[in-house]
Amino acid sequence: MIDTGIVILGSGMAGFGAANYLAEQGVSARIYDQRPRPGGLTSSFGSGDGFIFDEGVHISFTKSERVKALFAKSADKFEIGRVYCNNYWQGHWIKHPAQVNLHGLPTDLIVDCIKDFTAANAVEEPLVANYADWLLATYGPTFANTFPMVYTRKYHTTDASNMSTDWLGPRLYRPSLDEVLRGALEHEPLDVFYVDEFRYPTEGGFEGFIKGFYDKAKVYNNHEVVEIDPIVQIVTFASGATAAFNTLISSIPLPKLVPLIKGVPNDVLDASRRLACSQVVVVNVGVNRPVETKAQWSYFYDEDIPFARVSYRNKLAPKSCPPNCGAFQAEVYFSDKYRPLTGTPDDWIEPVIDSLISCGLIRDRSEVIHQSAIWIPFGNVIFDLERRAAVEIVQGYLDDIGIRYCGRFGQWGYIWTDAAFLSGEQAARRSLKAQGTEAPKLALA
Ligand SMILES: Cc1cc2nc3c(=O)[nH]c(=O)nc-3n(C[C@H](O)[C@H](O)[C@H](O)COP(=O)(O)OP(=O)(O)OC[C@H]3O[C@@H](n4cnc5c(N)ncnc54)[C@H](O)[C@@H]3O)c2cc1C
Repeated sequence: MIDTGIVILGSGMAGFGAANYLAEQGVSARIYDQRPRPGGLTSSFGSGDGFIFDEGVHISFTKSERVKALFAKSADKFEIGRVYCNNYWQGHWIKHPAQVNLHGLPTDLIVDCIKDFTAANAVEEPLVANYADWLLATYGPTFANTFPMVYTRKYHTTDASNMSTDWLGPRLYRPSLDEVLRGALEHEPLDVFYVDEFRYPTEGGFEGFIKGFYDKAKVYNNHEVVEIDPIVQIVTFASGATAAFNTLISSIPLPKLVPLIKGVPNDVLDASRRLACSQVVVVNVGVNRPVETKAQWSYFYDEDIPFARVSYRNKLAPKSCPPNCGAFQAEVYFSDKYRPLTGTPDDWIEPVIDSLISCGLIRDRSEVIHQSAIWIPFGNVIFDLERRAAVEIVQGYLDDIGIRYCGRFGQWGYIWTDAAFLSGEQAARRSLKAQGTEAPKLALA
């Protein structure tokens, strides 16, 4: 291995995507992370009483054969399953996506959804300036206001009218009238969700998919970066220790990274402050029986239910729970910009258990044998209307000073573990190219 002075900040999927690529090229790297152990958002935790929890639901549904093979090598054994997820609304459980599975909802609601859908789709060139416009033009007001607009406030913590549409991709299905009608009339749900197969490590939680890369770099945990000097090329840590670099690859969230850079211009600093991200309280609830849903996870639309999403641990991998037990992970969303956390993460445990009981997922409190909460300070990038311009300013500046950004919070995008890993690879490849140690081009898929 040769050391060309590459330092990687962040030991999540992006950091190890970079490290793994460099190791394949015979180049060594050092990774620094503020947390006590590697893994970033893909870490898993033993509860001490037999449960293993992730940082919110983490499932691999990568379509990249190369990433599938890399993750498979990392985890010794993994489950492969068919995705089934559903939606809860006012006592009704319907398959996902709701727009093509209206069967079983109140008749008046179905009639209004279909009437509105037909009228909305008769408009040839609707004006779409934001996500709310897109929802109204795609589904019509009844469906849009009953389901995705409410979910947006719960999950993204802001109104759809304050969001752009450049994150949608295949995430929200656009059905034909035939599909809406069929889904309203027939019991047999339509299968149009954009993810079909999932993979999940058999033991040890989702971290199984990253732990195989931990030896691809020299990893320094408990190293919080507090200053980056791009001129003399030195990173300083909270302990006062320093690390010199020739090339810096960062997966630290942009709003955290920018203020650390010595000499950063004010307009860049201001832009970084406009970037919004959700934060997550993940409430873990273990019960003394396996959870018996068909779904691996569910979405919740009622505003009086605190969580937006719940996953079922024993449906992903039974060994995530003690024998004959089950567990829920419920995600409650906040953001500094739009909905700051009230109280402490632990304060959300009781309201979550109340709602799990009211939805019928837990029968009564005597079933609960474990409860805890995890706080995630950076969850999902919020695609509000300020995002795009602010990201361009920040990333343009990082390009100018030669800091290579990657990962969910370096790209500041809505990307999953596979894309975070691949973006780390790309940052590493660009780094070698800039150093004159160019390596063969990577296939992206
Ligand atoms: C609730 C939730 C559910 C998700 N579900 C899925 C899913 O089902 N499937 C899927 O594929 N993806 C899912 N994702 C997305 C996935 O977690 C991310 O895309 C991926 O893990 C991002 O990896 P990363 O390396 O870019 O970021 P991270 O894993 O966040 O790594 C960044 C690292 O930077 C470190 N850092 C930050 N500041 C400093 C500092 N000052 N000094 C040193 N280190 C610092 C952090 O400690 C962290 O370890 C989910 C995300 C969330 C929040």
